[in-house]
Amino acid sequence: MVKISKIRIMIILLIVVVIAYALLSRGPSEAQRLPPPTGSWDSAGYVNGGSVKISSPDAEKMREVGYWQISGIGYWEKTIPTTIENGSTVELSYAWKKNYSAGAPTQQDIYITIVKPDGTSVDVDNQLEEPPAYNEWYVENTDISSYFDNSGTYKIKFKYSYTTADTEGSQAFAWFDEVKLVSNGNVILTESFQNDNDDWSFGVIGGWLYAVQSVDANFLDPHRTKYDWAIQVIALTYDTLMTFDENMNYIPGLAESWDIDPNGRYIDFHLRHGVKFHCGEPFNADAVVYSIKRAQSNISVHLDSVQNIQDVEALDEYTVRVTLKKWDRWLFDWFAETGGAIVCPHCAEEYGLDYGVSHFCGTGPFKVQSWVRDQKLVLVRNEDYRWGPSLYQNRGPAYLEGITIDIIPADISREDMFKKGETDMMIGFSPRPDLMEWLESAAPNVVTSISPRSSMVYVGFNVATLSPEILQGIESGQPIPSDHDVSLVNDTSSWVQVGSEMHPDNANKGLLVRQALLYATNKDEILHLAWEDIGTIAYGPLTDVMWGYDSSVEDMYPYDPAKARELLAQAGYAGGLTLTILTTNYDPYVKTCEQLKLQWEQVGVTLNILTLGFDDIEVMIAGADHDMWIGGYTWPNADMLWYYWHTIRVPTPGRFWWGNAYTDEIMENTFSISDNIALKAIQDGQKILMEDAAVLPLIQRPFLLAYWSNVKGYTVHRMANFIWKHLDTYVEE
Ligand SMILES: [Zn+2]
Repeated sequence: MVKISKIRIMIILLIVVVIAYALLSRGPSEAQRLPPPTGSWDSAGYVNGGSVKISSPDAEKMREVGYWQISGIGYWEKTIPTTIENGSTVELSYAWKKNYSAGAPTQQDIYITIVKPDGTSVDVDNQLEEPPAYNEWYVENTDISSYFDNSGTYKIKFKYSYTTADTEGSQAFAWFDEVKLVSNGNVILTESFQNDNDDWSFGVIGGWLYAVQSVDANFLDPHRTKYDWAIQVIALTYDTLMTFDENMNYIPGLAESWDIDPNGRYIDFHLRHGVKFHCGEPFNADAVVYSIKRAQSNISVHLDSVQNIQDVEALDEYTVRVTLKKWDRWLFDWFAETGGAIVCPHCAEEYGLDYGVSHFCGTGPFKVQSWVRDQKLVLVRNEDYRWGPSLYQNRGPAYLEGITIDIIPADISREDMFKKGETDMMIGFSPRPDLMEWLESAAPNVVTSISPRSSMVYVGFNVATLSPEILQGIESGQPIPSDHDVSLVNDTSSWVQVGSEMHPDNANKGLLVRQALLYATNKDEILHLAWEDIGTIAYGPLTDVMWGYDSSVEDMYPYDPAKARELLAQAGYAGGLTLTILTTNYDPYVKTCEQLKLQWEQVGVTLNILTLGFDDIEVMIAGADHDMWIGGYTWPNADMLWYYWHTIRVPTPGRFWWGNAYTDEIMENTFSISDNIALKAIQDGQKILMEDAAVLPLIQRPFLLAYWSNVKGYTVHRMANFIWKHLDTYVEE
């Protein structure tokens, strides 16, 4: 460590906070207090334009939230004036010290990033094993040659991040001086920050994110919604016991760990300590028990997901046992998704059905400040948040001060706002040709993020493999008899319906027609003409990001109009066949139907397109009063097989009218505790459904999002907005 006599303040990160009386009694001990730094930093902090004040809540806001612990990041960067050739040696030295007043910050670090000629950046590994003492200047010397692996122009970026103490007047800041870069023995950059004309540029991490989208959430209550637009807000405002890493492995969330009974009878969750709800109530085992029981209650839309939970109990303040009726591997996914988010028992009880509508309380990194349904949602940072999953570099609090989401239903108005820069981010849009063209032309100032996710568009056939008697029973509200054994695979007398012209006596006709339609469909053309080439081809009932996806389905139905004509002739329709497809007026769906009509005409099938409201379509499907419809799902895992294709799911959500004892057993085996048994069942299920052409999978839809390049740190996950926390996101001023 070297003392430096001439000190210039490079950066001051200053947080002035107001104390709440309740916390006066636990102020910092005198031993922790340091005198203010030498020099007058409140005035000298701004020399050379070199200070950065981190965006932070003002005193009024702090008083409202009753909390003053703040985190932030300041950075500054400079383009290295000399081109660095590959193979050069580069040494960096700089002097710095960190300081604070009032309570010592809980975290204060310097990060150095090299921005490469191609715009990518890499963090220099310069974290000291032993952090230096506060208020002591010291000089670091680092060989950073290995980061310069291409010839060209580089930038060097210093980043200072801090989290202040939960203490009156808590301030954290860092000072820098004597930055020097030496390459091949020559000084190529030196700064002592004594000149007024230095041209380092400065920035602040934080800011407020403004976003637009077309549709609003329905409920901000994890137990009362499965809706995409609600899920993304719930992921921001609540937490789950576990979550997913990049490879879809489970990682800790509010549960630090879990033990599974070897016989699969129970799961014990060991909960994180020190977590609190937005209202200040503690998170503990009681909250988890309350949440799971609430998910089993009649207000819940997650009854399917928790059907195999027998009981849930608190073993102690931070341990919860979930006892199972039978093993259910999909339950883990539910615990990791927003349906399994933990609600605040205190607020959920107090506000009843207003919870998630006008009163909100979770443990997530953002709090709901206001929500005017179908107009505007305002979220503010949860300053207490420290328990972000390891998926994020920043474990909390979020860098963003807040997020405003404006709901603008009209595509043109929404896109116009975005194009004019009146909003930072456009969430989840349709790939309209002119918009996609504009986005391309606006790069790199505008970033278009197309992330794969488990979302599919399909044509659902009305496939009834149940006997007519059972179908009639279902229609009149009677339960399906448990001993029925009508199998498409084993029983050729089963009744298969596709099209009003189909006669129940001819079992194979429907199968042949469905197979013909799969061969007659040119999916590449549909992807291109109806979906602007955004997405990938879907081949089976599951998406290719799901665990257990079987790629053998991809070869089953190549585009082959001749084969389609042959199968139709075999079915007795050499002379043609008329079918009707139901669609909503969603533009890509309508375009898809128009393409299907053109393609199927080539093999003699006349397709009528009937455009209806979503509710009318649901009614027709539930009454089996249709040939087929175009629809989609967004669902992360292979319990989709059970969800759509088990007999007990008919007619809702088993909208395909599919069910037989043979496949029921397979769908049940997908729940097995044995990976091998589950995997085999998932693969068999996919193959059988496709052999029987039970569905025409079309397109896998990515999650589309566009943002102006001043939004930084935004990362995507294959679960897309399902596990969104925006912890690393910030908006550059
Ligand atoms: Zn609460």
